[in-house]
Amino acid sequence: MGTSHDEGRQGEAYVPLVLNSEGYRKKFYIESYGCAMNFSDSEIVASILNDNGFGATRNFEEADLVLLNTCSIREKAEQTVRSRLHIFRQVKRSRPGMLIGVLGCMAERLKEKFLQEERLVDMVVGPDAYRTLPALIEEAGTGQKAVNVLLSREETYADISPVRLDSNGVAAFVSIMRGCNNMCSFCVVPFTRGRERSRDAVSIVRECQDLFAGGYREVTLLGQNVDSYYWIDESADLVVTFASLLEKVASIDPLLRVRFSTSHPKDITDEVLYTMARHENICRYIHLPVQSGSTRILQLMNRTYTREWYLAKIDRIKTILPGCGLSTDIITGFCSETEEDHQDTLSLMKYARYDMSYMFFYSERPGTLAARRYKDDIPEETKRRRLDEVVKLQNRLSLESNREDIGKTFEILVEGDSKKSAEDWRGRNTQNKVVIFPKADGSYQKGDYVRVKVEDCTGATLIGRALLH
Ligand code: SAM
Ligand code: SF4
Repeated sequence: MGTSHDEGRQGEAYVPLVLNSEGYRKKFYIESYGCAMNFSDSEIVASILNDNGFGATRNFEEADLVLLNTCSIREKAEQTVRSRLHIFRQVKRSRPGMLIGVLGCMAERLKEKFLQEERLVDMVVGPDAYRTLPALIEEAGTGQKAVNVLLSREETYADISPVRLDSNGVAAFVSIMRGCNNMCSFCVVPFTRGRERSRDAVSIVRECQDLFAGGYREVTLLGQNVDSYYWIDESADLVVTFASLLEKVASIDPLLRVRFSTSHPKDITDEVLYTMARHENICRYIHLPVQSGSTRILQLMNRTYTREWYLAKIDRIKTILPGCGLSTDIITGFCSETEEDHQDTLSLMKYARYDMSYMFFYSERPGTLAARRYKDDIPEETKRRRLDEVVKLQNRLSLESNREDIGKTFEILVEGDSKKSAEDWRGRNTQNKVVIFPKADGSYQKGDYVRVKVEDCTGATLIGRALLH
Protein backbone atom coordinates (compact mmCIF):
# COMPACT_ATOMS: atom_id res chain seq x y z
CA MET A 1 0.00 0.00 0.00
CA GLY A 2 2.69 2.44 -0.88
CA THR A 3 5.26 4.00 1.43
CA SER A 4 2.40 6.00 2.94
CA HIS A 5 0.68 4.84 6.03
CA ASP A 6 -1.74 2.00 5.73
CA GLU A 7 -3.89 2.67 8.79
CA GLY A 8 -5.01 -0.97 8.84
CA ARG A 9 -1.46 -2.15 9.52
CA GLN A 10 -0.38 0.27 12.27
CA GLY A 11 0.93 -1.59 15.29
CA GLU A 12 0.91 -4.91 13.47
CA ALA A 13 3.02 -7.49 15.26
CA TYR A 14 5.64 -9.26 13.21
CA VAL A 15 4.89 -12.90 12.56
CA PRO A 16 6.94 -14.87 10.05
CA LEU A 17 5.25 -17.02 7.44
CA VAL A 18 6.13 -20.08 9.52
CA LEU A 19 6.10 -19.38 13.26
CA ASN A 20 8.86 -21.63 14.46
CA SER A 21 10.69 -20.71 17.64
CA GLU A 22 12.35 -24.11 17.98
CA GLY A 23 16.11 -23.97 17.87
CA TYR A 24 16.18 -20.41 19.13
CA ARG A 25 17.53 -19.52 22.54
CA LYS A 26 15.28 -16.52 23.09
CA LYS A 27 12.13 -14.88 21.82
CA PHE A 28 11.61 -11.46 20.29
CA TYR A 29 8.44 -9.52 19.66
CA ILE A 30 8.29 -6.58 17.24
CA GLU A 31 5.50 -4.16 16.38
CA SER A 32 5.74 -1.80 13.42
CA TYR A 33 4.33 1.66 12.81
CA GLY A 34 4.42 4.11 9.92
CA CYS A 35 5.16 3.56 6.28
CA ALA A 36 5.84 0.38 4.30
CA MET A 37 9.56 1.15 4.58
CA ASN A 38 9.37 0.54 8.34
CA PHE A 39 7.50 -2.73 7.85
CA SER A 40 10.17 -3.77 5.39
CA ASP A 41 12.89 -2.80 7.90
CA SER A 42 11.26 -5.03 10.53
CA GLU A 43 11.86 -7.96 8.16
CA ILE A 44 15.55 -7.08 8.05
CA VAL A 45 15.65 -6.79 11.85
CA ALA A 46 13.96 -10.21 12.11
CA SER A 47 16.63 -11.70 9.87
CA ILE A 48 19.44 -10.24 12.01
CA LEU A 49 17.75 -11.49 15.20
CA ASN A 50 17.15 -14.99 13.82
CA ASP A 51 20.85 -15.22 12.99
CA ASN A 52 21.60 -14.32 16.59
CA GLY A 53 19.43 -16.91 18.31
CA PHE A 54 16.11 -15.04 18.62
CA GLY A 55 12.88 -16.58 17.30
CA ALA A 56 9.70 -14.52 16.80
CA THR A 57 6.67 -14.61 19.07
CA ARG A 58 3.32 -12.90 18.64
CA ASN A 59 2.87 -12.58 22.38
CA PHE A 60 4.93 -9.81 23.97
CA GLU A 61 4.31 -11.12 27.47
CA GLU A 62 6.56 -14.12 26.80
CA ALA A 63 9.24 -12.20 24.88
CA ASP A 64 12.82 -11.66 26.06
CA LEU A 65 13.14 -8.74 23.70
CA VAL A 66 10.30 -6.34 22.83
CA LEU A 67 10.91 -3.93 19.97
CA LEU A 68 8.83 -1.09 18.56
CA ASN A 69 9.71 0.04 15.05
CA THR A 70 8.47 3.60 15.20
CA CYS A 71 7.35 6.49 13.04
CA SER A 72 7.73 10.24 13.57
CA ILE A 73 5.80 11.55 10.63
CA ARG A 74 2.95 12.98 12.69
CA GLU A 75 2.50 13.65 16.37
CA LYS A 76 -0.28 11.08 16.62
CA ALA A 77 2.04 8.27 15.52
CA GLU A 78 4.44 9.22 18.29
CA GLN A 79 1.70 9.31 20.92
CA THR A 80 0.55 5.81 20.01
CA VAL A 81 4.07 4.47 20.44
CA ARG A 82 4.42 6.18 23.81
CA SER A 83 1.31 4.54 25.17
CA ARG A 84 2.51 1.13 23.94
CA LEU A 85 5.82 1.68 25.72
CA HIS A 86 4.01 2.30 29.01
CA ILE A 87 2.19 -1.04 28.64
CA PHE A 88 5.47 -2.88 27.95
CA ARG A 89 7.03 -1.15 30.91
CA GLN A 90 4.35 -2.61 33.17
CA VAL A 91 5.03 -6.14 31.90
CA LYS A 92 8.73 -5.59 32.53
CA ARG A 93 7.99 -5.02 36.23
CA SER A 94 7.14 -8.68 36.62
CA ARG A 95 9.79 -9.82 34.09
CA PRO A 96 12.82 -7.65 34.83
CA GLY A 97 15.03 -9.57 32.37
CA MET A 98 12.91 -8.46 29.43
CA LEU A 99 14.57 -5.81 27.25
CA ILE A 100 12.57 -3.05 25.57
CA GLY A 101 13.92 -1.27 22.52
CA VAL A 102 12.80 1.53 20.24
CA LEU A 103 13.82 1.32 16.58
CA GLY A 104 13.29 3.57 13.58
CA CYS A 105 12.44 7.22 13.20
CA MET A 106 11.48 8.06 16.80
CA ALA A 107 14.79 6.59 17.94
CA GLU A 108 16.56 9.27 15.96
CA ARG A 109 14.37 12.01 17.31
CA LEU A 110 13.85 11.12 20.94
CA LYS A 111 16.82 9.12 22.12
CA GLU A 112 17.63 11.22 25.19
CA LYS A 113 14.05 11.57 26.25
CA PHE A 114 13.33 7.85 26.08
CA LEU A 115 16.50 6.75 27.81
CA GLN A 116 17.37 9.41 30.32
CA GLU A 117 14.30 11.51 31.03
CA GLU A 118 11.45 9.04 30.83
CA ARG A 119 13.46 5.85 31.37
CA LEU A 120 11.00 4.01 29.19
CA VAL A 121 13.39 1.81 27.25
CA ASP A 122 16.66 -0.11 27.48
CA MET A 123 17.75 0.32 23.88
CA VAL A 124 17.44 2.96 21.17
CA VAL A 125 18.44 1.96 17.66
CA GLY A 126 18.24 4.19 14.59
CA PRO A 127 17.29 2.92 11.10
CA ASP A 128 20.88 2.63 9.88
CA ALA A 129 22.18 0.78 12.97
CA TYR A 130 20.32 -2.56 12.85
CA ARG A 131 23.50 -4.53 12.18
CA THR A 132 24.70 -3.50 15.63
CA LEU A 133 21.58 -4.89 17.33
CA PRO A 134 23.29 -8.06 18.68
CA ALA A 135 26.00 -5.97 20.40
CA LEU A 136 23.43 -3.51 21.71
CA ILE A 137 21.29 -6.33 23.11
CA GLU A 138 24.32 -7.65 24.93
CA GLU A 139 25.15 -4.22 26.29
CA ALA A 140 21.58 -3.62 27.43
CA GLY A 141 21.58 -7.09 29.05
CA THR A 142 24.29 -5.90 31.44
CA GLY A 143 22.04 -3.10 32.63
CA GLN A 144 23.59 -0.33 30.57
CA LYS A 145 21.55 1.85 28.26
CA ALA A 146 22.41 0.87 24.71
CA VAL A 147 22.19 3.47 21.94
CA ASN A 148 23.18 3.68 18.31
CA VAL A 149 21.43 6.28 16.21
CA LEU A 150 24.25 7.04 13.80
CA LEU A 151 23.01 7.67 10.29
CA SER A 152 25.02 6.28 7.43
CA ARG A 153 25.67 7.39 3.86
CA GLU A 154 26.14 3.82 2.66
CA GLU A 155 23.99 1.37 4.61
CA THR A 156 21.37 -0.34 2.44
CA TYR A 157 21.31 -3.81 4.10
CA ALA A 158 21.79 -5.12 0.55
CA ASP A 159 23.24 -8.45 1.67
CA ILE A 160 20.62 -9.24 4.32
CA SER A 161 17.79 -11.50 3.23
CA PRO A 162 14.66 -10.21 4.94
CA VAL A 163 12.57 -12.80 6.78
CA ARG A 164 9.15 -12.19 5.26
CA LEU A 165 6.50 -10.90 7.58
CA ASP A 166 3.34 -12.94 7.66
CA SER A 167 2.29 -11.32 4.41
CA ASN A 168 0.38 -13.74 2.28
CA GLY A 169 3.22 -15.53 0.54
CA VAL A 170 2.17 -13.76 -2.68
CA ALA A 171 3.18 -10.09 -2.45
CA ALA A 172 6.39 -8.73 -0.90
CA PHE A 173 8.12 -5.39 -0.40
CA VAL A 174 11.67 -4.96 -1.63
CA SER A 175 13.61 -1.96 -0.41
CA ILE A 176 15.64 -0.34 -3.22
CA MET A 177 16.92 2.77 -1.48
CA ARG A 178 17.03 4.48 1.89
CA GLY A 179 16.82 8.05 3.17
CA CYS A 180 15.74 11.16 1.30
CA ASN A 181 17.52 14.21 -0.08
CA ASN A 182 14.39 16.26 -0.67
CA MET A 183 13.71 18.87 1.89
CA CYS A 184 9.93 19.10 1.89
CA SER A 185 9.47 21.69 4.60
CA PHE A 186 6.83 19.73 6.56
CA CYS A 187 8.72 16.45 6.62
CA VAL A 188 10.91 14.88 9.26
CA VAL A 189 12.12 11.95 7.12
CA PRO A 190 15.40 13.52 5.91
CA PHE A 191 16.33 14.06 9.57
CA THR A 192 15.28 10.66 10.85
CA ARG A 193 16.37 8.46 7.94
CA GLY A 194 19.32 10.42 6.62
CA ARG A 195 20.75 10.96 3.15
CA GLU A 196 19.46 9.16 0.12
CA ARG A 197 21.39 6.10 -1.05
CA SER A 198 20.52 3.45 -3.60
CA ARG A 199 20.92 -0.25 -3.06
CA ASP A 200 23.04 -2.44 -5.31
CA ALA A 201 20.84 -3.39 -8.30
CA VAL A 202 22.30 -6.89 -8.51
CA SER A 203 21.11 -7.68 -4.97
CA ILE A 204 17.66 -6.21 -5.70
CA VAL A 205 17.18 -8.36 -8.78
CA ARG A 206 18.47 -11.42 -6.90
CA GLU A 207 16.02 -10.83 -4.06
CA CYS A 208 13.13 -10.52 -6.54
CA GLN A 209 14.24 -13.70 -8.36
CA ASP A 210 14.35 -15.57 -5.05
CA LEU A 211 10.90 -14.32 -4.14
CA PHE A 212 9.52 -15.49 -7.48
CA ALA A 213 11.18 -18.88 -7.07
CA GLY A 214 9.62 -19.09 -3.58
CA GLY A 215 6.10 -18.66 -5.02
CA TYR A 216 5.71 -14.89 -4.68
CA ARG A 217 3.96 -13.25 -7.60
CA GLU A 218 4.23 -9.55 -6.78
CA VAL A 219 7.03 -7.26 -5.62
CA THR A 220 6.72 -3.61 -4.61
CA LEU A 221 9.98 -1.71 -4.99
CA LEU A 222 10.20 0.66 -2.05
CA GLY A 223 11.88 3.99 -1.39
CA GLN A 224 10.93 7.50 -0.28
CA ASN A 225 11.64 8.73 -3.79
CA VAL A 226 12.10 5.75 -6.09
CA ASP A 227 12.49 7.80 -9.26
CA SER A 228 15.81 9.15 -8.10
CA TYR A 229 17.22 5.63 -7.80
CA TYR A 230 20.77 5.74 -9.19
CA TRP A 231 23.39 3.02 -8.94
CA ILE A 232 26.62 2.53 -10.82
CA ASP A 233 27.36 -1.01 -11.88
CA GLU A 234 31.15 -0.77 -11.84
CA SER A 235 31.66 -4.25 -13.30
CA ALA A 236 29.81 -3.24 -16.47
CA ASP A 237 30.58 0.50 -16.27
CA LEU A 238 26.85 1.14 -16.44
CA VAL A 239 24.47 3.49 -14.69
CA VAL A 240 21.28 1.85 -13.44
CA THR A 241 18.40 4.34 -13.28
CA PHE A 242 14.97 3.62 -11.87
CA ALA A 243 13.65 2.95 -15.38
CA SER A 244 16.40 0.42 -16.08
CA LEU A 245 15.93 -1.21 -12.68
CA LEU A 246 12.20 -1.58 -13.39
CA GLU A 247 13.05 -3.16 -16.72
CA LYS A 248 15.40 -5.66 -15.06
CA VAL A 249 12.88 -6.68 -12.40
CA ALA A 250 10.01 -6.88 -14.88
CA SER A 251 12.12 -9.14 -17.10
CA ILE A 252 12.50 -11.79 -14.37
CA ASP A 253 9.22 -13.39 -15.43
CA PRO A 254 5.99 -12.10 -17.01
CA LEU A 255 4.13 -13.76 -14.11
CA LEU A 256 5.87 -11.53 -11.56
CA ARG A 257 3.92 -8.33 -11.03
CA VAL A 258 6.01 -5.25 -10.28
CA ARG A 259 4.82 -2.22 -8.32
CA PHE A 260 6.73 0.69 -6.85
CA SER A 261 6.30 3.42 -4.29
CA THR A 262 6.75 6.33 -3.78
CA SER A 263 7.22 8.55 -6.80
CA HIS A 264 7.98 12.21 -6.42
CA PRO A 265 6.19 14.18 -9.16
CA LYS A 266 9.34 16.14 -9.95
CA ASP A 267 11.36 12.99 -10.65
CA ILE A 268 9.08 10.54 -12.45
CA THR A 269 10.28 10.53 -16.05
CA ASP A 270 8.75 9.67 -19.42
CA GLU A 271 11.33 6.90 -19.57
CA VAL A 272 9.71 5.30 -16.50
CA LEU A 273 6.25 5.69 -18.05
CA TYR A 274 7.39 4.15 -21.35
CA THR A 275 9.07 1.27 -19.49
CA MET A 276 5.76 0.63 -17.75
CA ALA A 277 3.96 0.74 -21.10
CA ARG A 278 6.35 -1.85 -22.55
CA HIS A 279 5.85 -4.39 -19.74
CA GLU A 280 2.38 -5.61 -18.98
CA ASN A 281 3.56 -7.00 -15.64
CA ILE A 282 4.56 -3.54 -14.36
CA CYS A 283 1.29 -2.59 -12.76
CA ARG A 284 -0.77 0.27 -14.19
CA TYR A 285 -0.77 2.18 -10.94
CA ILE A 286 1.13 5.23 -9.76
CA HIS A 287 1.13 6.76 -6.30
CA LEU A 288 1.98 10.42 -6.97
CA PRO A 289 1.73 12.51 -3.79
CA VAL A 290 0.63 16.06 -4.55
CA GLN A 291 0.28 17.38 -0.94
CA SER A 292 -1.61 20.53 -2.03
CA GLY A 293 -3.34 21.93 -5.11
CA SER A 294 -2.13 25.48 -4.52
CA THR A 295 1.10 26.64 -6.12
CA ARG A 296 1.71 29.08 -3.28
CA ILE A 297 1.44 26.31 -0.66
CA LEU A 298 3.52 23.93 -2.78
CA GLN A 299 6.26 26.53 -2.81
CA LEU A 300 6.12 26.90 0.97
CA MET A 301 6.25 23.12 1.21
CA ASN A 302 9.35 23.16 -0.98
CA ARG A 303 7.87 20.56 -3.31
CA THR A 304 9.61 22.20 -6.32
CA TYR A 305 6.64 21.89 -8.72
CA THR A 306 3.61 24.04 -9.39
CA ARG A 307 -0.04 23.04 -9.69
CA GLU A 308 0.20 23.35 -13.49
CA TRP A 309 3.37 21.27 -13.67
CA TYR A 310 1.75 18.53 -11.60
CA LEU A 311 -1.39 18.55 -13.73
CA ALA A 312 0.73 18.28 -16.89
CA LYS A 313 2.37 15.20 -15.32
CA ILE A 314 -1.05 13.66 -14.73
CA ASP A 315 -1.94 14.33 -18.40
CA ARG A 316 1.30 12.69 -19.47
CA ILE A 317 0.55 9.58 -17.39
CA LYS A 318 -2.95 9.35 -18.82
CA THR A 319 -1.60 9.71 -22.38
CA ILE A 320 1.22 7.18 -22.11
CA LEU A 321 -0.63 4.76 -19.81
CA PRO A 322 -4.36 4.93 -20.53
CA GLY A 323 -6.38 3.42 -17.69
CA CYS A 324 -3.54 3.80 -15.18
CA GLY A 325 -4.70 3.87 -11.54
CA LEU A 326 -3.68 6.97 -9.59
CA SER A 327 -3.46 7.78 -5.92
CA THR A 328 -1.97 10.58 -3.87
CA ASP A 329 -1.11 12.04 -0.45
CA ILE A 330 -2.74 15.27 0.69
CA ILE A 331 -2.05 17.52 3.68
CA THR A 332 -4.71 20.00 4.78
CA GLY A 333 -4.13 23.11 6.88
CA PHE A 334 -0.45 23.66 6.14
CA CYS A 335 0.92 27.00 7.43
CA SER A 336 -1.00 29.99 6.07
CA GLU A 337 -3.36 27.86 3.92
CA THR A 338 -6.38 29.97 2.93
CA GLU A 339 -9.84 28.79 1.91
CA GLU A 340 -8.83 29.57 -1.66
CA ASP A 341 -5.74 27.34 -1.39
CA HIS A 342 -7.96 24.62 0.04
CA GLN A 343 -10.40 25.00 -2.88
CA ASP A 344 -7.41 24.59 -5.21
CA THR A 345 -6.69 21.21 -3.59
CA LEU A 346 -10.31 20.11 -4.06
CA SER A 347 -10.36 21.19 -7.72
CA LEU A 348 -7.04 19.47 -8.42
CA MET A 349 -8.43 16.26 -6.94
CA LYS A 350 -11.41 16.49 -9.28
CA TYR A 351 -9.12 16.99 -12.26
CA ALA A 352 -6.82 14.10 -11.38
CA ARG A 353 -9.76 11.84 -10.43
CA TYR A 354 -7.67 9.86 -7.95
CA ASP A 355 -8.80 6.31 -7.24
CA MET A 356 -7.51 6.59 -3.69
CA SER A 357 -5.73 9.04 -1.37
CA TYR A 358 -3.90 9.07 1.94
CA MET A 359 -5.12 12.23 3.64
CA PHE A 360 -3.69 13.98 6.69
CA PHE A 361 -3.99 17.27 8.47
CA TYR A 362 -0.77 19.13 9.01
CA SER A 363 1.16 18.22 12.14
CA GLU A 364 4.15 20.40 12.90
CA ARG A 365 7.31 18.37 13.44
CA PRO A 366 10.11 19.87 15.52
CA GLY A 367 13.30 20.56 13.59
CA THR A 368 11.71 20.68 10.12
CA LEU A 369 12.06 23.70 7.85
CA ALA A 370 8.40 24.58 8.30
CA ALA A 371 8.69 24.46 12.09
CA ARG A 372 11.64 26.81 11.94
CA ARG A 373 10.33 29.20 9.27
CA TYR A 374 6.56 29.31 9.33
CA LYS A 375 3.84 29.67 11.88
CA ASP A 376 1.54 26.69 12.37
CA ASP A 377 -1.35 29.17 12.22
CA ILE A 378 -4.36 27.19 11.00
CA PRO A 379 -6.63 26.27 13.93
CA GLU A 380 -7.00 22.51 14.41
CA GLU A 381 -10.74 22.82 13.87
CA THR A 382 -10.15 24.30 10.41
CA LYS A 383 -7.51 21.70 9.55
CA ARG A 384 -9.96 18.95 10.48
CA ARG A 385 -12.88 20.50 8.63
CA ARG A 386 -10.78 20.83 5.48
CA LEU A 387 -9.55 17.26 5.90
CA ASP A 388 -13.14 16.14 6.22
CA GLU A 389 -14.01 17.86 2.93
CA VAL A 390 -11.04 16.27 1.21
CA VAL A 391 -11.99 12.82 2.55
CA LYS A 392 -15.62 13.22 1.46
CA LEU A 393 -14.56 14.26 -2.03
CA GLN A 394 -12.14 11.33 -2.26
CA ASN A 395 -14.86 8.90 -1.15
CA ARG A 396 -17.06 10.21 -3.95
CA LEU A 397 -14.26 9.98 -6.53
CA SER A 398 -13.36 6.42 -5.43
CA LEU A 399 -16.97 5.30 -5.72
CA GLU A 400 -17.33 6.92 -9.15
CA SER A 401 -14.09 5.32 -10.33
CA ASN A 402 -15.24 1.90 -9.09
CA ARG A 403 -18.67 2.28 -10.71
CA GLU A 404 -16.98 2.90 -14.06
CA ASP A 405 -15.40 -0.56 -13.71
CA ILE A 406 -18.72 -2.39 -13.51
CA GLY A 407 -18.99 -4.62 -16.57
CA LYS A 408 -15.21 -4.65 -17.15
CA THR A 409 -13.02 -7.75 -16.85
CA PHE A 410 -9.68 -7.66 -15.00
CA GLU A 411 -6.88 -10.09 -14.34
CA ILE A 412 -6.71 -10.53 -10.57
CA LEU A 413 -3.80 -11.87 -8.58
CA VAL A 414 -5.36 -13.90 -5.75
CA GLU A 415 -3.87 -12.91 -2.38
CA GLY A 416 -6.05 -14.78 0.11
CA ASP A 417 -9.45 -14.86 1.74
CA SER A 418 -11.71 -11.84 1.60
CA LYS A 419 -11.60 -10.00 4.92
CA LYS A 420 -15.37 -10.33 5.30
CA SER A 421 -15.95 -13.92 4.23
CA ALA A 422 -13.85 -17.05 3.86
CA GLU A 423 -16.25 -18.03 1.04
CA ASP A 424 -14.70 -15.35 -1.19
CA TRP A 425 -11.23 -14.74 -2.61
CA ARG A 426 -9.54 -11.37 -2.37
CA GLY A 427 -7.04 -10.05 -4.90
CA ARG A 428 -6.05 -6.90 -6.74
CA ASN A 429 -6.15 -5.78 -10.33
CA THR A 430 -3.26 -4.03 -12.03
CA GLN A 431 -4.70 -0.65 -10.95
CA ASN A 432 -4.30 -1.78 -7.32
CA LYS A 433 -8.05 -2.01 -6.69
CA VAL A 434 -9.21 -4.74 -4.35
CA VAL A 435 -11.45 -7.28 -6.10
CA ILE A 436 -13.58 -9.93 -4.37
CA PHE A 437 -15.11 -13.00 -6.04
CA PRO A 438 -16.68 -16.27 -4.83
CA LYS A 439 -14.39 -19.25 -4.29
CA ALA A 440 -17.17 -21.41 -5.69
CA ASP A 441 -16.46 -19.94 -9.14
CA GLY A 442 -13.58 -22.36 -9.74
CA SER A 443 -10.71 -24.14 -8.10
CA TYR A 444 -8.19 -21.43 -7.50
CA GLN A 445 -5.53 -20.80 -4.91
CA LYS A 446 -3.39 -17.98 -3.57
CA GLY A 447 -0.93 -16.77 -6.20
CA ASP A 448 -3.19 -17.64 -9.17
CA TYR A 449 -4.14 -15.14 -11.85
CA VAL A 450 -7.89 -15.17 -12.45
CA ARG A 451 -10.01 -13.20 -14.93
CA VAL A 452 -12.85 -11.59 -13.03
CA LYS A 453 -15.82 -9.66 -14.44
CA VAL A 454 -16.95 -6.84 -12.15
CA GLU A 455 -20.65 -6.86 -11.33
CA ASP A 456 -20.91 -4.55 -8.34
CA CYS A 457 -18.81 -2.32 -6.11
CA THR A 458 -18.45 -0.30 -2.93
CA GLY A 459 -16.22 2.75 -2.58
CA ALA A 460 -13.32 0.52 -1.57
CA THR A 461 -13.90 -2.78 -3.38
CA LEU A 462 -14.91 -4.25 -6.73
CA ILE A 463 -17.14 -7.32 -6.53
CA GLY A 464 -17.23 -9.80 -9.40
CA ARG A 465 -17.37 -13.34 -10.78
CA ALA A 466 -14.51 -15.39 -12.15
CA LEU A 467 -14.66 -16.14 -15.86
CA LEU A 468 -13.80 -19.64 -16.98
CA HIS A 469 -10.65 -19.71 -19.08
N1 SAM B 1 8.36 10.30 0.25
C1 SAM B 1 7.00 10.33 0.03
C2 SAM B 1 6.62 11.55 -0.80
O1 SAM B 1 7.34 12.49 -0.91
O2 SAM B 1 5.53 11.55 -1.30
C3 SAM B 1 6.16 10.33 1.28
C4 SAM B 1 6.75 10.16 2.59
S1 SAM B 1 5.79 10.44 4.02
C5 SAM B 1 6.26 9.00 4.90
C6 SAM B 1 4.13 10.07 3.65
C7 SAM B 1 3.18 11.21 3.70
O3 SAM B 1 3.03 11.69 5.02
C8 SAM B 1 3.58 12.45 2.93
O4 SAM B 1 3.38 12.32 1.55
C9 SAM B 1 2.71 13.50 3.54
O5 SAM B 1 1.46 13.59 2.89
C10 SAM B 1 2.50 13.00 4.97
N2 SAM B 1 3.22 13.85 5.91
C11 SAM B 1 4.55 14.01 6.02
N3 SAM B 1 4.85 14.92 6.97
C12 SAM B 1 3.68 15.35 7.48
C13 SAM B 1 3.31 16.29 8.47
N4 SAM B 1 4.23 16.98 9.13
N5 SAM B 1 1.99 16.47 8.74
C14 SAM B 1 1.06 15.77 8.08
N6 SAM B 1 1.33 14.88 7.12
C15 SAM B 1 2.62 14.66 6.81
FE1 SF4 C 1 9.54 13.65 3.13
FE2 SF4 C 1 9.53 15.01 0.85
FE3 SF4 C 1 11.39 13.13 1.27
FE4 SF4 C 1 8.85 12.44 0.85
S1 SF4 C 1 10.19 13.47 -0.62
S2 SF4 C 1 10.21 11.65 2.45
S3 SF4 C 1 7.72 14.06 1.86
S4 SF4 C 1 11.15 15.05 2.39
